[in-house]
Amino acid sequence: MQDIRWNAFWLCFILLIISLITWASSDAITALLVFTSGLLVYLLNHIYWIYKLNLWLKKPILNQVPHGRGIWEDIFASLYQLHRQHSRNQTQLSSALGRFRHAASALPDGVVVLNSVNEIEWCNRPAETKLGLNLKKDENQPISYLIRQSDFINYLQAQDYSEPIKLYSAAHPDMTLEIQLIPFGTKQKLLICRDVTQKEKIDAMRRDFIANVSHELRTPLTVVGGFVETLLDMDGAIPESTRTYFNMMQDQTNRMRRLIEDLLTLSHIESNAQPPEDSVINMGRMTAMLLNDGNALSKGKHTLTLEAAPDLDLIGSPEELQSALSNLVSNAIRYTPQDGTIHISWKLQADGSGQFSVSDNGIGIEQIHIDRLTERFYRVDRGRSRETGGTGLGLSIVKHILTRHQAKLVITSELGVGSIFSVIFPKVRIVQN
Ligand code: ADP
Repeated sequence: MQDIRWNAFWLCFILLIISLITWASSDAITALLVFTSGLLVYLLNHIYWIYKLNLWLKKPILNQVPHGRGIWEDIFASLYQLHRQHSRNQTQLSSALGRFRHAASALPDGVVVLNSVNEIEWCNRPAETKLGLNLKKDENQPISYLIRQSDFINYLQAQDYSEPIKLYSAAHPDMTLEIQLIPFGTKQKLLICRDVTQKEKIDAMRRDFIANVSHELRTPLTVVGGFVETLLDMDGAIPESTRTYFNMMQDQTNRMRRLIEDLLTLSHIESNAQPPEDSVINMGRMTAMLLNDGNALSKGKHTLTLEAAPDLDLIGSPEELQSALSNLVSNAIRYTPQDGTIHISWKLQADGSGQFSVSDNGIGIEQIHIDRLTERFYRVDRGRSRETGGTGLGLSIVKHILTRHQAKLVITSELGVGSIFSVIFPKVRIVQN
């Protein structure tokens, strides 16, 4: 820019000097003529190079950049450099893309690149085999036309890709696929699909084994428990000196029975891939029932309060949700010392979701334990859990039931202050009357 300005300045200056000399040696009109002709030549020169530039821009081939003269030489030289750099970047980029495709093709997992409107841009061989795609035919086709399962369509539309989903492969019905979408770049997505058939089989075997063992243990335990109970109830059947042992036997058989019931519930929920049997749950009635059951469990040792939004109902399985929510209430009672308070609430949130929460001013939980509470058999204090009749499976059952209802469990707690266990139900499950 600086050069152009200097160039124009010097040219005008020289033209002016020549015109002044002409004026001095001849007359003013000739001088003016000399000045304007000079300017015209200057202008025509620029128009010519602009024309050349325009011509080249229509077909920008690197080694055909015009050479130019004067200031245009610099401009074309810069243009040449820029274009060369651009071509080099382009080559590097396409070789990087080539390498990426090569590497992605070697992956055992299926990889599909989707554009911003979920059309297939590229996919590797395993994706073609597992998902039944054909890159040649299906390029630029919406993925939803090719993977028609409703679970996948819902997953794609929900735009929450934090967790993978499981699908049965349409191309191989005996194959279970785990599919995860990963957003990248400008609204593009990477679809990763993995064959988890084997893992699913092992999981199913493990679940069946636990369910079978629990089931087999249930009958002998009921018999033993029944006898112990009968002996305890029968006058003079057991000497007073051994009554304590019988009481301990009864406590332990009861504990084992609870454990077996919880194991059976957990394996039943885990193996049930079907969505819950939804119906509209009258939450006024359900929360009142939770309060009643809570009071019965507390036996007057705590103050229980309830605040439920009227005319706000929930869609879900009544049995499953009753079991999950009552578990949170019973935990609050079990982990809150005598005279503590427990508050149950059910309300609509600003974003349309529903929030059920149980807060207590009980023993609280240290921060480091919170993320692990829903793991099977994870207990902060084993002794206390056992004392209060806990099995260590309650919150993992809660978590499973909530996941089946697309709900989230949020736990906030402070040691020695108390805890809040909140369940957030998505907007689609909320009914406002
Ligand atoms: P448990 O049968 O041992 O109660 P859960 O799965 O229901 O098992 O809970 C896991 C652990 O979480 C419990 O052992 C307890 O340490 C902790 N916990 C659950 N609810 C509360 C609560 N309201 N206050 C304090 N700790 C809690």
